[in-house]
Amino acid sequence: MRLLDRYEEVVGHQEVERLRRLAERLAGKRIVHVNSTRTGGGVAEILGWMVPLMTELGIDARWEVINGPPEFYRVTKAFHNALQGLPVSLRKSDFDLHYEVNRENASRLNLEADIVFVHDPQPIYLPEFTPPDQVGRWIWRCHIDASRPDRGVWKYLETAMSRYRAAIFSLAAFARPMGVPMFLIMPAIDPLSEKNCAMPEAERLETLARFGIDPDRPLLLQVSRFDRFKDPLGVIEAYHLLKPYYPTMQLALVGGPADDDPEGAEVLREVQDRAGGDADLRVLLLPPDSHRAINALQRSATIVLQKSLKEGFGLTVTEALWKGKPVVGGACGGITQQVHDYHTGFLVHSPAGAAYRVHYLLRYADKRQRMGQLGHDFVLQHFLLTRNLRDYLAMLLCLDHPEAGTLVV
Ligand code: UDP
Repeated sequence: MRLLDRYEEVVGHQEVERLRRLAERLAGKRIVHVNSTRTGGGVAEILGWMVPLMTELGIDARWEVINGPPEFYRVTKAFHNALQGLPVSLRKSDFDLHYEVNRENASRLNLEADIVFVHDPQPIYLPEFTPPDQVGRWIWRCHIDASRPDRGVWKYLETAMSRYRAAIFSLAAFARPMGVPMFLIMPAIDPLSEKNCAMPEAERLETLARFGIDPDRPLLLQVSRFDRFKDPLGVIEAYHLLKPYYPTMQLALVGGPADDDPEGAEVLREVQDRAGGDADLRVLLLPPDSHRAINALQRSATIVLQKSLKEGFGLTVTEALWKGKPVVGGACGGITQQVHDYHTGFLVHSPAGAAYRVHYLLRYADKRQRMGQLGHDFVLQHFLLTRNLRDYLAMLLCLDHPEAGTLVV
């Protein structure tokens, strides 16, 4: 069975038919996505399904990954932090390194295409090293909140934008004026991926046993890279506030290494220190291909937390809602688009706030169940990959036919 036929069973015939109709007008278009890692984090997760689906729709889609020395990832991580408003100290040599790595990658990668989607700041300078007549093919896809960046870093990144034709942000609140047309496209999940598909009960229980988690006791779960913006220490604090009242409660903090995130090891150490020797608090470092294990853990959670202080879209929230779990999430970024108080979970601003809302949800099983169902339906309507792909296709058609104005599909 072809990929899209399988999705039809989840999202309905009409939605898939719309995609086919849109893609007819883009048949044969050569599209390249460029990012900085093939595994780990939300961008890799999205490109993993988007490229094969575009291909099936008749588009000539590919995925290229830039690489550089470890020092490059330290600099790009600082860019990431700076875009999200953290003060960073970078030297001129750091900017030069970023520029040079982009130059090397521009000559190494196959960027021959009609449209190149450049994801996030790591490869942003690639267009600089191609002939100026090819400017029309570059689109910057920013997955992070760039609304209040560090000025120095933004100035450097903004200079690269003169070569771009358009920019895409996940939310209006993340965007900055940039002198090119801007599009808003919210990310989405793949309901049939290993991460999100239905799972036999025996496999779920076997996964819990492997990690020493008791299936009969309440489980709080946060899945995310070990990154300060994800606030794993805040989650532990909330757990410590609750534990005296719920002695059987368990917490699992699940993360993995992302190739492009050098700070992860340090944050992981802090988390392990804070976790101490508590047998009910599991800190699990999983290999990047642990999709089924994460699926099983999300399905086993009583409540999922995503207590971020800054967040892009927050795909882990989408994944949890899809599995019918209420989410207690930090009131930031895309979490605010997905978590609605008393409907799909609760937005919180502090560890105490998180503990308070978890306490409520632990007490009322019926509310958990109702919110979980609403969350699942909400994702079905708004945050599955077919909607995301439709937005991309519609955007490409808009760029090809600016005279058409608003495109009705
Ligand atoms: N993820 C994973 N293993 C991990 C941690 C995260 O596979 O150890 C996945 C997670 O399930 C989600 C994505 O990585 O699909 C993270 O996306 P999100 O938007 O939540 O955060 P980002 O890492 O992009 O900031």
